[in-house]
Amino acid sequence: MLFQKGSVGSPHWRLGLAVLACLITIMPPAQGAEGPQFSATRVWPSTLYTRLTFESATLPSYRYFMLESPRRLVIDIDDFRLSRVLHKLSQQVNASDPFISRIRVAKFDAKTLRVVVDLKQPVRTDIFNLKPVANFQHRLVVDLYPKLNSDKDPLSLFLANTPSVRSPLEPLTSPIGKAPFIVMIDPGHGGEDPGAHGLRKTLEKNVVLQIAQRLKRLIDQQPDMAAVMTRSDDHFVPLAMRVAKAQQQKATIFVSIHADAVANRQARGASVFTLSTRGATSAAARFLANSQNESDLIGGVSRSGDSYLDSTLLELMQHQTLHDSAILGSAVLKQLHKINPLHKSRVERAGFEVLKAPNIPSILVETAFISHPEEERKLKTARYQQQVAEAILVGIQGYKVKRYE
Ligand SMILES: [Zn+2]
Repeated sequence: MLFQKGSVGSPHWRLGLAVLACLITIMPPAQGAEGPQFSATRVWPSTLYTRLTFESATLPSYRYFMLESPRRLVIDIDDFRLSRVLHKLSQQVNASDPFISRIRVAKFDAKTLRVVVDLKQPVRTDIFNLKPVANFQHRLVVDLYPKLNSDKDPLSLFLANTPSVRSPLEPLTSPIGKAPFIVMIDPGHGGEDPGAHGLRKTLEKNVVLQIAQRLKRLIDQQPDMAAVMTRSDDHFVPLAMRVAKAQQQKATIFVSIHADAVANRQARGASVFTLSTRGATSAAARFLANSQNESDLIGGVSRSGDSYLDSTLLELMQHQTLHDSAILGSAVLKQLHKINPLHKSRVERAGFEVLKAPNIPSILVETAFISHPEEERKLKTARYQQQVAEAILVGIQGYKVKRYE
């Protein structure tokens, strides 16, 4: 995993510390000069919501409130020091951010660090702590949603933000009596969750989004298919919401796109997964399932409630879905084999959360190993991205013929 840490270890900062140390020896120590500090801050704007993240070795305790004229969100954090990364926070705000115009940070009193977020529009906030996971320390997460939807919970907002493929002026053409064939494309990870990365620091979340966008263009060119995406920019969508979006769109199939990574840099090739109800079929698959499911903890879901597999009825439905998923997976794997050696020659099974829609055949495609130097290089090229997208499209068409025609 890779992301920008603050410059805590930089020479400038050390110099600053030295100067500060001198000041402290000259002046009586100011109350609040001690205490924990934030090691990193990040801002993730998207059309749907903007996420601010404060990372630290210590769990922060905080309070927050809204003020008007000018409209702003105030977050008071106990005992934390004013650190250099906080001064840089305002520079991290994108001018096109739909919610934030500026962020100011100062000591409010000896005990309180105050963060003031100047707002462009009324917002609804969701503020919560996340425990350390993977390479992340404690995180204080501030999500800003549009106030217009204040009556809606984040799930409804995520769903509302996925434009329906059925609403455009040009309806999706399909033979009479047949439902339109809708592909929900799921680019893995996003925003706070970078996924895997290669030696050249290529991030999984970026290359899989590019491949997904190419696949969407290809699918939308087909006369009897349409594609929707769980995310179309660099923000995090919780795993359960990806599945919920597919349900809401009445997707015919679900295709999650990833790039693999393992410690062994020799490992290479594409693989395709379907859901295993009995858990992972191999230790490698189990490891992979865990690292993918960790995505929610990294991306930060403050609530859960997956009850898809709870009822017997759903399990029966899922039996057929798993069967169809296997056909889809094989068809896609066959096409991927034409452009790259396969990592595993058969469709594998694992307990990935995003494959758990009980009524939607779902596959997870590991397009290549981003940890393999040659494959990392290829994953970034338009040529290989297009080849992968075309292979998935042809695989989907193969499935469609087999299943429906
Ligand atoms: Zn992934």
